Amino acid sequence: TGQTQKWLQQYVDDWVAFYRKRTNDGDVASYIPALAQADPDDLGISIIGKSGMTVRSGDTDMSFTLQSISKVISFIVACMECGVSYMLDRVDVEPSGEAFNSIMHLEMQQVEKPFNPLINAGAITVGSILPGKTSDQRLEPIFQLLENMVGYRPKLNVDVYESERDSSMRNRAIGYYLLETGFLESDLNVTLETYFKQCSIEVTIDDLANIGMVLANDGMNIKTGEAIIPRQIARIAKVLMLTCGMYDASGKFATYVGIPAKSGVSGGIVAAVPPRVRDEPMPFTDGCGIGVYGPALGDEGNSIAGIRLLRHIANQWDLSIF
Ligand code: GLU
Repeated sequence: TGQTQKWLQQYVDDWVAFYRKRTNDGDVASYIPALAQADPDDLGISIIGKSGMTVRSGDTDMSFTLQSISKVISFIVACMECGVSYMLDRVDVEPSGEAFNSIMHLEMQQVEKPFNPLINAGAITVGSILPGKTSDQRLEPIFQLLENMVGYRPKLNVDVYESERDSSMRNRAIGYYLLETGFLESDLNVTLETYFKQCSIEVTIDDLANIGMVLANDGMNIKTGEAIIPRQIARIAKVLMLTCGMYDASGKFATYVGIPAKSGVSGGIVAAVPPRVRDEPMPFTDGCGIGVYGPALGDEGNSIAGIRLLRHIANQWDLSIF
């Protein structure tokens, strides 16, 4: 109702203002030059509920690139195109306990496949499996799925793509390693180009909230009534988000927030809150999608104000899935 909506809006406005003031202990990502231009004080959140109730606050109109959030999308697409068991034979679903761009684990002889699709080695492997000769052909179903989730076709940010491509020594090293060990299923250069481009797709927090909403509802787009991701695949995506989605802080995030979520180095976070049964009336018990943007990152690579804000709201509204 209007009264609830007003109360929730005031509440979120207050806490966005509170956490924005404290962003000065994080830093924007600088290893990709184009990302270093972000304003570390920006903070915005968009929450979209099943009934259509929407609460948006802070810097709601910023565009930013998906970065690692794209890894969830490309994995879903690969599962839809090639089948779940085919994909799970080629990438594992275990947290790695190492940095997202680590090659250390790959060097160990007993590793049979990359640990999971949300670290770079896994995501690059997934990109090598996507059907299509060129990177644009491989990206097409990614754009298509995004369009089905957010309601329009997002654009590639060419500046970020070029910046990413030209500062990609580590990812190339990972790529060559994957090539040598036989993990890659197709041409390395096309695969890396696919990866850099998927990371550079531009979105807003409303887009992330809509993506979160589709995942929260097991692949159903509530607005159109369309099942756009098979339920099994949407569930695996949420498992990966919960166990591996927040880099090396995934365990802490699951403990203190308890929601499947994925962050990216641009400062975006997508979160999927499934419907919950609660004894007391709580906001968004029928589930919601949440999009956050706050480019100042903490040590683990997650939006520092974004995590604080999510943690606060999740605790107050009892959003945990556990
Ligand atoms: N394009 C980035 C990289 O591979 C994505 C990293 C991220 O968001 O974690 O370096």
